[in-house]
Amino acid sequence: MEKVIIVRFGELWLKGGNRYIFIRKLRSSIERKLIATKSRISAKRDRFIIYTPEKEIANVKDALAYVFGISWYGEAYVVKSELRHIVKGVISASKKAGLTGKSVRIEAHRSFKELDFKSSDIVGELLRSKDSLPFIPDSSSDRVIMVNPDKDETYIHTEKIKGLGGMPFGSSGKAIVLISGGIDSPVAAFYAMKRGLEVVYLHIHPFKDYRTALNSKMKELIAELSRYSNGTKAYFLPSYIFESKILGTEPKNEMVLFKSFMMGVADMLAEKEGCGAIVTGESLAQVSSQTLTNLSISSSKTSRLIIRPLICFDKEEIVVVAKRIMTYDISVLKYRDVCAFHSKNPATSANSKLIEKTYLQKGLEEAAKATLKKGKSVLFGKVPPENTV
Ligand code: ATP
Ligand code: MG
Repeated sequence: MEKVIIVRFGELWLKGGNRYIFIRKLRSSIERKLIATKSRISAKRDRFIIYTPEKEIANVKDALAYVFGISWYGEAYVVKSELRHIVKGVISASKKAGLTGKSVRIEAHRSFKELDFKSSDIVGELLRSKDSLPFIPDSSSDRVIMVNPDKDETYIHTEKIKGLGGMPFGSSGKAIVLISGGIDSPVAAFYAMKRGLEVVYLHIHPFKDYRTALNSKMKELIAELSRYSNGTKAYFLPSYIFESKILGTEPKNEMVLFKSFMMGVADMLAEKEGCGAIVTGESLAQVSSQTLTNLSISSSKTSRLIIRPLICFDKEEIVVVAKRIMTYDISVLKYRDVCAFHSKNPATSANSKLIEKTYLQKGLEEAAKATLKKGKSVLFGKVPPENTV
């Protein structure tokens, strides 16, 4: 019996008339990940069937674990859509899945309604062949064997691996992700991608040469996150222009000025990259720069949508996700983040008028433009990162 992999779409069902656009995006996300495996994808109404050489099955499943827009996936056996073939297939598939002697629920669901048998006929036929079944049919069992007849082929499977859910990569547009070396922003990037955003990373570093930032944990962090995307661009921008401009300002205002400056740079980069939103890892009240007032001040530097996926998360909740997506261990590695240079006790409720005045007086608008010009972009993808500028 030939083995295939079934991929069931997630929320795409909610998309009405635009469904096909989302399905196309999902298909291309999967195809790009499977190039090396010589797989073929066949699209059905609510799922893809992936035909791949047997030795590639594990690789295909590994790749699918990083694709957004999938509700579940799993290996299946293929037989002809005829009752006698289905019965033989169920016997063989259940033996291979180690279900011999166990109680198993049979679930049958026709994708193609014009077949000359119904779903209930499949269950009936299997129950009639009870004596030759290796398992004990039991409608209350948690173990399931699923039978899904389509027009010509029927898929029989016992495996149902939960996918990442969410929307296909890039189906919601493009966003700048402000990424620091910390725990929070990589998690924010994950959630942004989960809702279908293609991401472009922006990191502001304190070094003379961007390569010092690139050859730090930042590379590992972005590479880890790039597993969810179809290639990623990351900009590394220096902080020295900002640092030189803010000399002489009150230390308690430095952090809010820096956050405003970052938002200003992100807005300009968003324009250049055609991004409709800016994503940050901020969480309300987590630190003094993330109070309602301070967040509002930095928000005023862009009219674009600011997405803060973690705004209502507790730190422990963020850590759980960071560990799950494997960024935590990288995030906790030592790194000289720009924020470390600024006062540990910023004003919790900065004066917005004063900050705006200082921003203009110190020429931070021009500093943002000049900083953007000094930026270097790096492509991350399947191949090792390469410098594009
Ligand atoms: P994180 O764990 O993501 O570093 P944090 O709790 O340390 O977050 P802050 O340092 O206040 O909080 O940063 C808040 C957000 O600002 C970050 O989540 C990130 O989106 C952005 N940010 C901070 N530092 C930088 C930086 N050097 N370059 C780009 N973005 C940054
Ligand atoms: Mg930080």
